[in-house]
Amino acid sequence: MNKKSPAGLYIHVPFCAQKCRYCDFYSFPKGEEYFEVYKNRVIEAIEFYSKKYARCYNSLYFGGGTPLLLGEKHLCDIMAAAKPYLTEDAEVTAEGNPGVSERVDFKKLREAGINRLSFGLQSSNERELSALGRIHTAKEAAETVKAAQNAGFDNISLDLMLGIPYQTEKSLLESIDFCASLGIQHISSYMLKIEEGTPLSRSDLRFLCADEEKVSDLYLFACEELEKRGFAQYEISNFAKEGKRAFHNSRYWLDDEYVGIGPSAHSFMEGRRYFFDRNIRDFLEKPFEETEREESSGGGWEEFAMLRLRLTDGLDVFELAEKFPEVSPEEILENAKPFEKPGLLKINGSKISFTPKGFLLSNALTAEILY
Ligand code: SF4
Repeated sequence: MNKKSPAGLYIHVPFCAQKCRYCDFYSFPKGEEYFEVYKNRVIEAIEFYSKKYARCYNSLYFGGGTPLLLGEKHLCDIMAAAKPYLTEDAEVTAEGNPGVSERVDFKKLREAGINRLSFGLQSSNERELSALGRIHTAKEAAETVKAAQNAGFDNISLDLMLGIPYQTEKSLLESIDFCASLGIQHISSYMLKIEEGTPLSRSDLRFLCADEEKVSDLYLFACEELEKRGFAQYEISNFAKEGKRAFHNSRYWLDDEYVGIGPSAHSFMEGRRYFFDRNIRDFLEKPFEETEREESSGGGWEEFAMLRLRLTDGLDVFELAEKFPEVSPEEILENAKPFEKPGLLKINGSKISFTPKGFLLSNALTAEILY
């Protein structure tokens, strides 16, 4: 089984205590009676895909939804089923909502092999949290992080959102300081997107979200302030203390293989990209391969380059040309040169990497460089 290089394993848990106003992920509030059935199906899927690809995994990510909502019993059962396929040093992350500390026994999760936690804090400001429809307070978030740390977790990430209704530079700085004061290792900082069909898109609160210019200022401000507190940027939206980059997430940007399990989960295995429909009934009832759908595009040199340009490590044009001989590395370097002086990117030998200012324009900039 271990002859081929290890892949990543993603398990989607589509349950949430309550739907947040802005959320477009495949998740919904469901009662505990669903959890057992779902867990059993996930375990079947782990067996099925691990045998199909004859792989082990050096990362496992429970994403959602709110995986910690399943509680330690179900999560430990899934871990027991996954264990034979995990490498000794596998990074195993579970996402959750702050405020779950009273529902989850972190010690048991740690003993079961989960070694990283990611909490959707979004903000430490109560007014902003309530505008987003979040169900936790900053105080509960601090208690949750403390409880996890006391149970031995030393790799914890928090999400921070930019462009929230009512958010100012001052309140963002308070949120950043709040995170830093908790002694965590990683921060994901995303810009709020108003997705069609979400309650936020129909609410007057949408008029209080930051406009493009303000959200860009907040982004540059966040990059600077996070850096000052020891969270080095390594991807458009991700910042980490030394040695604490998210290994599983990084494989998406490095074009590395992963198996996704659960409705809406995506996979990239053996050159093939596919996903499960956003339909829990199909996932529970139909044979797995019947519910897989092929991605319509992806896998070419443009995608490889675009993913690398999300990282501060950047794109090595010689590596690109080695993988895709149809590409001219000299041409790409030439295209990139005019953007170095205005501070949008850096060129170091054969490597091109965007600056925070460049990340703000990454789609347009990537197109200018590649074509
Ligand atoms: S907790 Fe996360 S997945 Fe669940 S509704 Fe809120 S944003 Fe969406």
